[in-house]
Amino acid sequence: MAPLRVALTQALGVAQVLAGDDCVPYMTDWRKQYSGRALAVVRPGNAEEVATVVRLCAQHGAPVVPQGGNTGQVGGATPDASGRSVVVLLSRLNRIRGIDTDNDTITVEAGCILQAVQDAARAAGRLFPLSLGAEGSCMIGGNLASNAGGTQVLRYGNARELTLGLEVVTAEGDVWHGLRGLRKDNTGYDLRDLYIGSEGTLGIITAATLKLHPLPVAQRTALVALGSVERAVAFLARARARLGASLTAFELISRPCIELVTRAYPQQRLPFAAASSPWYVLLELSDSESEAHARAQFETALGAALEAGEIEDAAISESAAQSEALWRLRESITLAVAGEGKCIKHDISLPLSRMAVFVRSTDAELQRAFPGIRNMTFGHLGDGNLHYNLVKMAGQSDDAFIARQSEVCRLVHDSVHAHAGSISAEQGVGRTRVDDLPRYKDELELALMRRIKRALDPQGIMNPGKVLKQEAE
Ligand SMILES: Cc1cc2nc3c(=O)[nH]c(=O)nc-3n(C[C@H](O)[C@H](O)[C@H](O)COP(=O)(O)OP(=O)(O)OC[C@H]3O[C@@H](n4cnc5c(N)ncnc54)[C@H](O)[C@@H]3O)c2cc1C
Repeated sequence: MAPLRVALTQALGVAQVLAGDDCVPYMTDWRKQYSGRALAVVRPGNAEEVATVVRLCAQHGAPVVPQGGNTGQVGGATPDASGRSVVVLLSRLNRIRGIDTDNDTITVEAGCILQAVQDAARAAGRLFPLSLGAEGSCMIGGNLASNAGGTQVLRYGNARELTLGLEVVTAEGDVWHGLRGLRKDNTGYDLRDLYIGSEGTLGIITAATLKLHPLPVAQRTALVALGSVERAVAFLARARARLGASLTAFELISRPCIELVTRAYPQQRLPFAAASSPWYVLLELSDSESEAHARAQFETALGAALEAGEIEDAAISESAAQSEALWRLRESITLAVAGEGKCIKHDISLPLSRMAVFVRSTDAELQRAFPGIRNMTFGHLGDGNLHYNLVKMAGQSDDAFIARQSEVCRLVHDSVHAHAGSISAEQGVGRTRVDDLPRYKDELELALMRRIKRALDPQGIMNPGKVLKQEAE
């Protein structure tokens, strides 16, 4: 047995060092784009054990690959093919360490499932607003390492903005105890913000202190139909002006996505006669007064938009069940699109002022270059984030479609760059976007990132080949 495997087994016990078939689920990413091999898959039970694992890996020069729920979309949690890496599963670090309702904070370990954190907050009469399609299986450490976004960013911000303090195992195997519950703390460089979004390339997050918010008294959801992205952007400005902080979600959905979902799941229906408009928006209003107030607020805002000709039709949910049905339409898109075969995904963000022109010009350029390619565009328009996804033309094989993936991505990302956008809004760089970064990121910015990496991970063992290209040894 490899000496490092022996040392890991001695430190953690044989049950926590997986072998054979038990390792298989952790070797492939959610999208099944990457498969790797590992020297060991380990399950430490607390921060001290994580630190021991990292110290042993540093002594043996072995790469460390942290893994949470393995729902990431960019291959960040999958080991490479070398078989030298140690995959560190955080799932046993799953305790809620405490809730402080006076300070409106919750302290949780990295392996807590996001939904469990939401539930614990709700049980204490508070809201933990991070919300995304994978919330039943992704873990808070993965959310923070990838600075996850989701559907509530418009009102509450992304994972970074919801975090006050961190506990981190550094690349040298020390434990940084930074679990502060402070909203103000200007005592130097912000290490917390360095580790958040670093995708496991600087250290391992073992716990976090997170912000809580008041639970809304009433929530209403509406689906509106509209004629163009320009109108959706104008409607967003109106909705924000009218509803202010009560507007908690604003999701754009294109007609092809709606058609795909209603075909794949016939029990799901649009609240309108037919899907005749090219675009739809799902909005959510969270009210701190009453059901009646929420309804009145929504009616006024939607009525004004109808009168101004910004929107063509609107349906407001009358119950929690109707709200859930509307959200299900939105949340079924990823799986319905997956049913069409291989998909070329882009997780992009743009200034709202450039959104409409970007969609129009990029759709047209794609059709010129790849006639028949099908756009499945949807996303968190409220914060300028589109999932600009593409599926193969009718009759084309998966292989023929995927063979052109890099050309398609190049066209889309060049267009994003030309419109002052970002090629990764919320999913991160991981392995998928690592080769694209030098083309779109400022040279100095990249050089500074490399210096930070060298300072915090001098041996280069933390998740190598993710975010930044591996430097020559
Ligand atoms: C159906 C579906 C919908 C999704 N919707 C959204 C969405 O709306 N918004 C969004 O942002 N994302 C979304 N995602 C992507 C994904 O769920 C999120 O990125 C999530 O935050 C990843 O969490 P995880 O625990 O699965 O992390 P993993 O996939 O296990 O890991 C992600 C990255 O973080 C690193 N990592 C994991 N844990 C730690 C740790 N404790 N310390 C240091 N590094 C660590 C890994 O090495 C890897 O680089 C979606 C995914 C699916 C499948």
